[in-house]
Amino acid sequence: MRILIIGEGGRESALATKLHKDSRVTKMFFANGNATTDAIGKNVHLSEIKELRDFAIKEKIDLTIVGPEAPLVAGLKDEFKKHDLKVFGPNQKVASLEGSKAFSKKFMQTYDIKTAKAVIFDAYNEAKEYIQTQEYPLVIKASGLAGGKGVVICDTLEEAEATIHDFMIRRIYGDAGIRLVIEEYLQGFEASIIAFSNGEQLFPCIPVKDYKKAGDGDKGPNTGGMGSVAPSPEFTKEHYADFEQHILEPTITGLKAEGFSFKGIIFFGLMVTKKGTYLLEYNMRFGDPETQVLMALMENNLLDVINDCMNGKEVQLTFKDEKAVCLVMCSGGYPRNIEIGFEIVGEDKVKHSQLLHAGAIRRGDKVVSNGGRVLNIVATGETYEDARKKVYEDASHVHFDYSFYREDIGKF
Ligand code: AMP
Repeated sequence: MRILIIGEGGRESALATKLHKDSRVTKMFFANGNATTDAIGKNVHLSEIKELRDFAIKEKIDLTIVGPEAPLVAGLKDEFKKHDLKVFGPNQKVASLEGSKAFSKKFMQTYDIKTAKAVIFDAYNEAKEYIQTQEYPLVIKASGLAGGKGVVICDTLEEAEATIHDFMIRRIYGDAGIRLVIEEYLQGFEASIIAFSNGEQLFPCIPVKDYKKAGDGDKGPNTGGMGSVAPSPEFTKEHYADFEQHILEPTITGLKAEGFSFKGIIFFGLMVTKKGTYLLEYNMRFGDPETQVLMALMENNLLDVINDCMNGKEVQLTFKDEKAVCLVMCSGGYPRNIEIGFEIVGEDKVKHSQLLHAGAIRRGDKVVSNGGRVLNIVATGETYEDARKKVYEDASHVHFDYSFYREDIGKF
């Protein structure tokens, strides 16, 4: 099989590393890839859907796997389908469950999926009036894709006023912020459940804990993810039962009723509160860094799972009875201003973990930083502490200027 993977993060490195071991995979291409994917396949510099389509035709690609949301929301699947090119991921309409928070909130409300109470606004004045009457904190979300920055938890009315002004009048996220979802604040802990879809059924993986804040003890600004742990130590069987009954099953019902059949991934971003498990959002692709720990524990052959989903077959997912920890090493300043291009040294001293490149590329005989989240260090162990020790021991040998990481990933 000739496979094209779209994306360039640690998630794509984890998927690629798993697929690379499969003798049926004869060639892998990555758009745009990183230093890990460069070592096991060919990185190509393509971003426009038409360029990707032409490349897939020319290179006789048998399967395209899409890492990030943007190409799916922009209609990559629809375009590829016209040319009989197979894509593991949903079409544009179904990808709107991630691409439009207003669309997904309406879906959740229609199918009685347990989620935060919310109202959708298109008019600035109406939103402004509404926020005067609400309790705080209040959550304001830009409906469209805003690079992970479109959700603001407002502690005061003043903050809420400034936020809706930024989104709707100043349009700091362009069209993404002209429609808003304003919702109740939910207090609790978060968990991520990634499920494979074969077009009819969903097959959930074990729950993952993702660390979103930049600093230890969940302090500081939100990031793309500073680490992850699987299985989530906080998400109990009772939480899962709640998820199954109030989120998973009604989602399957809704997907069927709307004709939203797709072969790909649906990711449930959950908030567990004293009142139970709530759905914050759907993502219609693999999570990053959730995928890294799932791939470390997954016993199935990934290509079999994807092929079975593509062929509408049932999948039996199994995971090692171990713990996995992923630590993300970042560029100084992340998630704000960063500098890139620093040489990464000490990779050869990583002995107990898997080192996956994220924002890191090969330049000549060196590997240099090329993004905010630069490296992922992933290990498994009998206990969280075992896995954590391996990860931090290995991380201590890897250096690049101004790098930093959280010290508390997997510490319970
Ligand atoms: P979303 O993109 O909707 O998942 O939101 C991004 C992040 O904002 C989530 O991972 C949560 O940390 C936070 N968040 C979103 N909605 C809420 C809510 N209703 N209450 C509390 N936190 C939220």
